Amino acid sequence: MRPGYQVKTHFPGTRKRSSSQDREGMPEHVWNRNDGTMTFAYKGLVIEKRNALYRVRDVKLSGFPVQSVAGVFNDSRLLRALIDSGIAQSCPERLERLREGNRNVHCGNCLTPFLFRREGMIEHLGGFLVTCPYCAHEEFEDRLRWATDENFY
Ligand SMILES: [Zn+2]
Repeated sequence: MRPGYQVKTHFPGTRKRSSSQDREGMPEHVWNRNDGTMTFAYKGLVIEKRNALYRVRDVKLSGFPVQSVAGVFNDSRLLRALIDSGIAQSCPERLERLREGNRNVHCGNCLTPFLFRREGMIEHLGGFLVTCPYCAHEEFEDRLRWATDENFY
């Protein structure tokens, strides 16, 4: 795991090259760190972001038109719209369970949101530690702060 705190002032602006308003109000630190992969949950679906390209990890949700989100996307707005429309066709109970299973947390150190992975936890002093994939900061499970899954990071 390499440290993710190198600050780069390059914006992944393949969509439009215009003003900073295109960054949709995202926190600056999310956009400054674009040299790795980000994994986060969006409404229960697991999204991988690498070099400003998005990929939806295998969708296990009945009714969801999986083909509509197959492949790699560089337009987060388009992908988000496709997911929203796919979710509207999905089984609501399954969706709810999926969202409970795929949740985001905030790193207490670098504040980056990431997908919470129970199997990645390390037992320590009677508790469980979660390691931030970006800055390697370790936090006890019961001190984690949950982050919304309604943002596209
Ligand atoms: Zn961190």
